[in-house]
Amino acid sequence: MTKRVVLIGHPVAHSLSGAMHQAAFDAQGIDAAYELWDRVPTELAEAVTQLRSDEFLGANVTIPHKEKVVPLVDRLTEDAQATGAVNTITREGKRLIGHNTDVPGFKVALDKLVGKRKMPRQAVVLGAGGGARAVVHSLITEGFLRIVVFNRHLHRAEALVKHFSKGAAHMDLRAMPWHESIIEAELAKTKVLINATSIGLLDDVSPIPAEILPPELLVLDLIYKRTRLLRDAEAAGCSVMDGELMLLHQGAAAYTLWTGQPAPLALMQEKLADARAHGVRSAEGEPVAGGDPASDASTVGSTDTTAPGTAPTADR
Ligand code: NDP
Repeated sequence: MTKRVVLIGHPVAHSLSGAMHQAAFDAQGIDAAYELWDRVPTELAEAVTQLRSDEFLGANVTIPHKEKVVPLVDRLTEDAQATGAVNTITREGKRLIGHNTDVPGFKVALDKLVGKRKMPRQAVVLGAGGGARAVVHSLITEGFLRIVVFNRHLHRAEALVKHFSKGAAHMDLRAMPWHESIIEAELAKTKVLINATSIGLLDDVSPIPAEILPPELLVLDLIYKRTRLLRDAEAAGCSVMDGELMLLHQGAAAYTLWTGQPAPLALMQEKLADARAHGVRSAEGEPVAGGDPASDASTVGSTDTTAPGTAPTADR
């Protein structure tokens, strides 16, 4: 029986994850199909319940469900517990285990961005969703001493800070209101800027004006494309990185959890690059503008490994 692995999110069409995972299953002779399940929040619990059946190896969870899925699984691994967010689910019998592979994925990306420099100790994080939780947890465990979180809805950033307060008692972790002048003042004092909002994903806009970007900042955008923010930052003299490496490594870790096999990293990277070259520019599964959000359960064909990448795309 062909096993199933699903990506649950809203929206999810044309996911890049399908391109890399299906190619990996096929190359390693694992009889499994990666499917995209577009589920609105009210459909999340039912989707998770379905995963308890024998035919499923597990799932990925993406925007906007990473936090809401936490109470729906039976056990959390350490990173999932620490972040309060789940991006990968495995099954043990009928029990579901929630993991967070965004954490190791982000760490690989951060290390690469920092390169030979000394690991900085101050960061500004834009966003307070599931992705931001993996970012903040990783920064704390990396030894950052000041992290300022800005979010459109301040209460969500405050909840994030509260969640981490115990493990961050030794350092300065704070939420601040999204005002340009405050962000500018914080950027002048920081070394690292992470965009963990989805601003720039659908439209070519930046979360912050180019003028407030100081040179020599290290800028990482979780979005898997050369966003406006990254172009502005590069022009300002910053070092920049998009979300590709994080996507690859969170995917590789998830693959190993589902299959017990080491992930074929080079192949997965190649398939991600192919998908990107064919016009898919989303971060991790969002549809192109004009896509059909109602297109449920579109299976990535086991031989057509570039299917998500070759789908017609609008301006994303
Ligand atoms: P969530 O839905 O949990 O959070 C979305 C975040 O974006 C919130 O902070 C939200 O603010 C903010 N946001 C969305 N729209 C706007 C807007 N119009 N104006 C201001 N703020 C906005 O999503 P995730 O945290 O899971 O994902 C966030 C981004 O990171 C996505 O683009 C995702 O694809 C990417 N990502 C990439 C990964 C990778 O491997 N490369 C891994 C994880 C995430 P508010 O709370 O105020 O609504």
